[in-house]
Amino acid sequence: MTGATEALPDFDLVLFGATGDLAMRKLVPALFALEARDMSQPGARIFAIARSEYSTEGYRDAVETALRRHLPERFDPAIANRLLARIEYRTVASDSAAAMRSLAAELRPADACERLFYLAVPPGVMVDICDDLAAAGLNRNSRIVLEKPIGHDQASCRATNDAVGRYFDEDQIFRIDHYLGKESVQNLLALRFGNALFETLWNRQSISHVQISVSETVGVEGRAPYYDGVGALRDMVQNHILQVLAAIAMEPPMQLDEGCVRDEKVKVLRSLVPITGGGVSQATVRGQYRGGIINGEPVCGYLEEQGVDPASHSETYAAIHCEIANWRWAGVPFYLRTGKRMARRLAEIVIFFRPVAHDIFGTVSELPFPNRLVIRLNPDDSLDLNMLAKMPGERIRLAPITLNLSFEQAFRQRTADAYERLLMDLINNRLMLFVRRDEIEQAWAWIDPIEQGWAESTAPPRGYNAGTWGPQAASALVARGGHSWSEEL
Ligand code: NDP
Repeated sequence: MTGATEALPDFDLVLFGATGDLAMRKLVPALFALEARDMSQPGARIFAIARSEYSTEGYRDAVETALRRHLPERFDPAIANRLLARIEYRTVASDSAAAMRSLAAELRPADACERLFYLAVPPGVMVDICDDLAAAGLNRNSRIVLEKPIGHDQASCRATNDAVGRYFDEDQIFRIDHYLGKESVQNLLALRFGNALFETLWNRQSISHVQISVSETVGVEGRAPYYDGVGALRDMVQNHILQVLAAIAMEPPMQLDEGCVRDEKVKVLRSLVPITGGGVSQATVRGQYRGGIINGEPVCGYLEEQGVDPASHSETYAAIHCEIANWRWAGVPFYLRTGKRMARRLAEIVIFFRPVAHDIFGTVSELPFPNRLVIRLNPDDSLDLNMLAKMPGERIRLAPITLNLSFEQAFRQRTADAYERLLMDLINNRLMLFVRRDEIEQAWAWIDPIEQGWAESTAPPRGYNAGTWGPQAASALVARGGHSWSEEL
């Protein structure tokens, strides 16, 4: 069971890139989840589009196989059949403009239902599809979803936004960052702005520093043609990690709506102290995995991966010490890191509170940062508050304890997956958890000088063995601020 079960408005969803990895691994399971909740109207339809030749029946079979594979425990043939019955497959051949005109004839009038275009396609074809949609008159009274990456720097991001913006107004454009659909990220807002407890401590007076870590154990997984030349900074930091950072650091929005929340997030991104020139080597570490052991199995290094340029300088690891120049956060280090082939898969935010001002027990200062709030996004959504408490016994001796809150256990409900939640918001026309143009362009503006500093450096990325927590230099980066990564404490 899940929480929200309100019915969705009726929709025609057109899914471009319907045969791709994202569609099969994330979007089709998310559509299944909506079906399982019985939220879709009887008439809701899904048009699946790609260049590959499929019949609708053949494509439905492929979807069923994907569902069985990706939802082995939740798969239910009756629910799957309801979903499959909604799906029609259409091929876009060489004349994509003609394909779009015939699609236009099949879609219901825009005032009859929500008209949604989801572009799960390679970035290079995004604008062409917008051109074709507009030529067929389909840009009016509709919404469009753009997947990452949008550009590879600020200039290219602007060019894409300009091109899409010729046909779609900003309030029709849903830029996905699936981290914003994660329950924990939304809970971060609930925690901060729904409880007097935390908000009063949420500033430089009480918080020593913040760490945001996203680590994966997988390598490039056959995505080398995309990943090599892009690297961890563009793939993970520019979007997911900066969005999480903005949610942690933003001021309280005047109200919970897309305008106010996104206004506050973009202010954080504008307040990030630029890392430029010589500062790049001081404030950042880029790494690249070598061979090593993952889950007891030997794995090859990045440069040995199929499809990777053997002389590649693309980073598979990035760590950054950044600061936010505003009244709330001045002087508080934010340490960001992400990497592939690391010791463990996790995504978490750790807020390190300052120690007590005066230690009457004589032991508090021996325990580094006893008050930590850990907001976990992966592998499960949960929240840990680390505190000190008296150990049982006559004498007062303190020991660390953890107050743990697992959202699924606390609410006894399955929480919606990120794509499931974002699809619901798309259909309901709720933009708050999608990224606005100024946010994404501002994020690139901060990333670009770091990329430039790395590009100008002749030093290769620092090596780290697969199955570890990244290069030694990343420990030195936080040690310069007097800190350690959370797993080293
Ligand atoms: P894939 O290469 O696996 O799939 C691309 C899809 O686009 C295929 O269905 C392909 O089918 C279709 N396609 C290609 N050209 C056209 C075209 N001109 N018109 C219509 N369809 C077309 O890529 P992914 O699914 O991995 O990624 C899709 C997008 O989502 C990319 O922008 C990616 O960066 C982004 N993304 C992917 C994630 C993932 O986990 N996979 C995560 C986050 C973002 P065909 O060849 O038959 O046309």
